[in-house]
Amino acid sequence: MTTPWGFPDFDAHEELQFVTDDKCGLRAIIAVHSTHLGPAAGGARFWHYAQADDALTDALRLSRGMSYKNAMAGLPLGGGKAVILADDQRTKTPDMLHAFGRAVDHLGGRYVTAEDVGMDVADMIEIARNTKYLAGLPAEGKEVGGDPGPHTSLGVFLGIKAAVSHALGKDSLAGLHIALQGAGSVATGVALHAAAEGAKLSIADVDKAKAQKLAEAASGRVVAPEEILTLEADVLSPCALGAIFNAQTIAALRAPIVAGGANNQLATPADGALLHARGILYAPDYVINAGGIINVCTEYLADGDAGLVRKRIEGIPARLEQIWSESKASGRDPAAVADAMAQKLIGRG
Ligand code: NAD
Repeated sequence: MTTPWGFPDFDAHEELQFVTDDKCGLRAIIAVHSTHLGPAAGGARFWHYAQADDALTDALRLSRGMSYKNAMAGLPLGGGKAVILADDQRTKTPDMLHAFGRAVDHLGGRYVTAEDVGMDVADMIEIARNTKYLAGLPAEGKEVGGDPGPHTSLGVFLGIKAAVSHALGKDSLAGLHIALQGAGSVATGVALHAAAEGAKLSIADVDKAKAQKLAEAASGRVVAPEEILTLEADVLSPCALGAIFNAQTIAALRAPIVAGGANNQLATPADGALLHARGILYAPDYVINAGGIINVCTEYLADGDAGLVRKRIEGIPARLEQIWSESKASGRDPAAVADAMAQKLIGRG
């Protein structure tokens, strides 16, 4: 019998809660990876998994990622994540969300939930009927709240500028070519910021209409999804999927910088070393894409206004610089350097 302790992605997680509510059909896992820096914060994912084991693996990995992300963003939050196991029809009812809210509440604030893939603001409103330990509710008159996407975009844009300054010695994106994978929430903000600074954009999305719309708004051009990773460009900005970099895709890259908002871009930790060996500057994903959680954190803790959110997001480039300079000094790749820094911050160095 395999126990959660035997899972390859188990990483001294502090707490795992398995939730079953037969009445409403809820099955969920809440993973609290670390509360060293504060309540374990991270969204709830609603996803149909082929096997329950895949859900546990996802919860274990994503919650550890949140510990790293929150620590590197300088937030007083630990890392956690919830996964709700959807059936193959993706049935989601208010009763399920209420039961999930009860489960979150049961943890007494050690876990704080928010939106993730498959969950939206309307779902948060339902969950909030049974717990106060959540963020991502509509801003409604408050200065901080709502969709984290634009905040993530701002951080990614600032991170791209830092990478361009570091690798190419340029203090502006004017005239530079950015290859953008994705035309969704995060990519849209990145494209508009970059276009406003005079960057030339190539945009790919599996949804061609979305790519077309964004290309028009950002005066860019649309390229096919299968071409975007191998485009000759100054910056490749992945803002769609995870696990896109492996030995094969890395060998074919033709951009000197990889800096984008997608989570879990590296298929394995070894791929960070492969990017480094090719001389490609990598902005670790959970560092550059922390703008959204910074907004969520400020909303949840109610410890600041929009100005503080912006100030915290403006700290992302300095954190990246710190990683790159340590990478240069040690010869280790930036992803490995970031992991080591994050582990130290959460008391596991
Ligand atoms: P989104 O759903 O709005 O956009 C994702 C886009 O990627 C969609 O338009 C989709 O059609 C496209 N896409 C999917 N597969 C593709 C492929 N193979 N090639 C090209 N395009 C493809 O999601 P989002 O909120 O913009 O998030 C994008 C990424 O950023 C995700 O990895 C997400 O986990 C990460 N992220 C988002 C936030 C946030 O605040 N929204 C915060 C941190 C990280």
